[in-house]
Amino acid sequence: MSLSQLARSISESPTLKLNETAALLRDKGEPVIHLGGGEPKSKAPIDAIVSCASLLSTGDVKYTPADGIPALKKAIIRYTEEHYGRQPLAENVIASSGAKQSIMVLLHAILDPKEEVIFPVPYWVSYPEMVKLAGGVPVAVAARSGGFEPTVEEIAENIGTYTKAIVINSPNNPSGAVYSDEFVAGVVKLCEKHDLYLIMDDTYNRLIFDGRKPTNVYNFVDSRSLDDSKLVVINCVSKMYAMTGFRIGWAVASKEIVRAMTNIQSQETSGPAAPSQWAAVGALNGVQSSIESLRLTLENNRNVMMKRLGGFSGVSVVKPGGTFYCFPDFSAYEKDSQKLSRMLLEKVRVVTVPGREFGMEGHLRMSFCGTIKEITEGIERIKWALDPGAPNELYLGDRKLTRDWR
Ligand code: PMP
Repeated sequence: MSLSQLARSISESPTLKLNETAALLRDKGEPVIHLGGGEPKSKAPIDAIVSCASLLSTGDVKYTPADGIPALKKAIIRYTEEHYGRQPLAENVIASSGAKQSIMVLLHAILDPKEEVIFPVPYWVSYPEMVKLAGGVPVAVAARSGGFEPTVEEIAENIGTYTKAIVINSPNNPSGAVYSDEFVAGVVKLCEKHDLYLIMDDTYNRLIFDGRKPTNVYNFVDSRSLDDSKLVVINCVSKMYAMTGFRIGWAVASKEIVRAMTNIQSQETSGPAAPSQWAAVGALNGVQSSIESLRLTLENNRNVMMKRLGGFSGVSVVKPGGTFYCFPDFSAYEKDSQKLSRMLLEKVRVVTVPGREFGMEGHLRMSFCGTIKEITEGIERIKWALDPGAPNELYLGDRKLTRDWR
């Protein structure tokens, strides 16, 4: 079969693949603990369900405008006013099928072949592949310090004649790091100086801990009007409202960018699914307490995970300031993160995501969006698998595991 060069150059999303593997093993009755997940356990807010159900009950479910229904755009405008202090017009807003699609149509709208998109290491797994899909070249910038936040100078060193955009995701998937205001402000200035697009991926913006306030990138921007700016802010209902399956995200940007994105989206998929858009309207306009309750649960889970990992000699971990991920360094046990992740799944049925997928070897991404039991038992099993001093046997329910690999 002859597949395109592009198809052959794109790899499968490793996180989605792991979800599949975990589900298959669970179906077979295996006692899998999924610490690789990327979605909160909680249910969608009731206002989202009621709003979605009221559309469904009419049976009148039709195409929508390619950039989203007016009610959703209105809700997004209100959200932007409340959380960013900016007042976009409807023409500055596009709703898509998830933040993923917003980013994808944006890249299609701004990239010419071989143009480069810069992002810090560690990065969300999809950025490199999405940039490649849009014909561009991904440029991942690692901090020389080995930490999770490169300096503005390190980003600047990678800007060349082909650079078109910089992507910043804070709080960050996979590290949970919240970038400093100095870093975000510095990157904004760099983009203004070099006339680059800045894609601010605020997917986890509200899921932030320790009393910190979400970063508002507009505070650092020079231009008065959205239409004079190459800043694009991406959001979604997926994580903050635990609505990953509804697939609704959006972008706020200049009218010119939004128009181009809308043209592309209109040819690619048309508007997002109408029931999902109405669900998002319900979530955005409804009672907001679910976000705070999710945030508090995640902060507590984070604390439990840090405590458990703290008792794991040889593993070093930086406390995440947001999201529901941490990114411990396991290189003292195994430098090859894919090998380690595979071994943990095979031997103790714990799912983790190899750091290599995020551009950082030796680390594993571990999620704390599950239950406390999953977190504590998952880490207990990993410890048993890696710690040579652990007893030779471990019970998974009524099944006895005998360690035969050390
Ligand atoms: N950006 C980041 C950093 C993410 O982690 C994700 C989801 N894993 C997305 C974007 C995509 O979000 P959505 O599910 O709304 O497409």
